[in-house]
Amino acid sequence: MKTITRTEEMHEAVLEEKSHGRSVGFVPTMGFLHEGHLSLVRESVRRADVTVVSIYVNPTQFGPKEDFKQYPRDIHRDTELLKAEGVDYLFLPDNKEIYPEGYKTYVEVHDLQDKLCGRSRPGHFRGVCTVALKLFNTVNPDMAFFGQKDAQQTIILKRMVQDLNLGVKIEVVPIVREEDGLALSSRNTYLNQKERSTALVLSASLEEARMMVKNGERDSGQIVDRMKEMIGREPLAKIDYVEIVDMENLDPVQKIENEAMAALAVFVGEVRLIDNTILQVKE
Ligand code: AMP
Repeated sequence: MKTITRTEEMHEAVLEEKSHGRSVGFVPTMGFLHEGHLSLVRESVRRADVTVVSIYVNPTQFGPKEDFKQYPRDIHRDTELLKAEGVDYLFLPDNKEIYPEGYKTYVEVHDLQDKLCGRSRPGHFRGVCTVALKLFNTVNPDMAFFGQKDAQQTIILKRMVQDLNLGVKIEVVPIVREEDGLALSSRNTYLNQKERSTALVLSASLEEARMMVKNGERDSGQIVDRMKEMIGREPLAKIDYVEIVDMENLDPVQKIENEAMAALAVFVGEVRLIDNTILQVKE
C-alpha cells in the first residue's frame, strides 16, 4: 500500500492506474477504523481493480462546539488494518492540502442539507459535500463506497453527484453492528460503561419500529411515539430527533406505504449517536 499526502500526486497515481484500464474504488473516512469502515473497504477491494482509502478529519463538517479536536485518531493502527485488507493507496492529506490559504469555495445541497441531522448540525453537510467533491476530483473514482449508517449523507451525496454531473457511482453498504445491536461508530469510544448500555436503546427502538410495521402498524405517528417513549425511559438519553421519512426527499411520512426510513439521533450523555433502519411493508 502506498501512502500519499499530496493531492497532485494522488491524482497522478490514479491517472496512471486508469491508463492501464483499471477501475478505481474509493472509500473516504475520518479514520479510527472499525469493522464498519472495513466492510466498505472490502466491498471496494472486491469490486474495483484499485482501492483508494482516504483518512481526513474534515474540520469544516464539525460545528464550533463539536468534537473536532478530540475526535479519535490512530493512524498507525489504521495503516496496518488497511494494508491487511489489500488497499492500494492511502490518501492522507493535511488541512493545508485540502483548505490552502485563501480557500473560498463550498458546496451546498439545498433543502436536503437542512433536514434530520442538518437541523442540529448547521453547516455539517456543506462541509461533507465540499470535502467529498474535492476528494472525488482528486481520486476520480469509478465508485465511491459509503455506509447506510450515515443515510442522510448518502442521499445528499447522490443528489450532488447527479446535480453536478460527476462521473462517480455512489455505492451504499449496510450498517455493521455489534452483536448486541449497537451500530459501530468511532464515537462509541467516548461512551463509558453506563452510556454504552444506554446506547442500546437506539437500535432497540428501531427494532421495535420494524416489529410494529411487521404487525401491521402503518401510522408513523404511532411508531415515533412508541420509539420516543422507549428512549425517554433512559435517564442518560436525550432525543435530538426521531423521524420516519421518505427515502428520497427525507420529508416525514404520515403513513408508511411501501418503504420508509426510521432515523434517529440521540445524545447519550454528551455523545451524539445516530442510527436508522428501513421499514418495509411486505405485501
Ligand atoms: P466516518 O469515518 O465516520 O466518516 O465514516 C466513513 C464511512 O464509514 C462513512 O461512509 C460511514 O457511513 C461508514 N460507516 C461508519 N460506521 C459504519 C457502520 N457501522 N456500518 C457501515 N458503515 C459505516
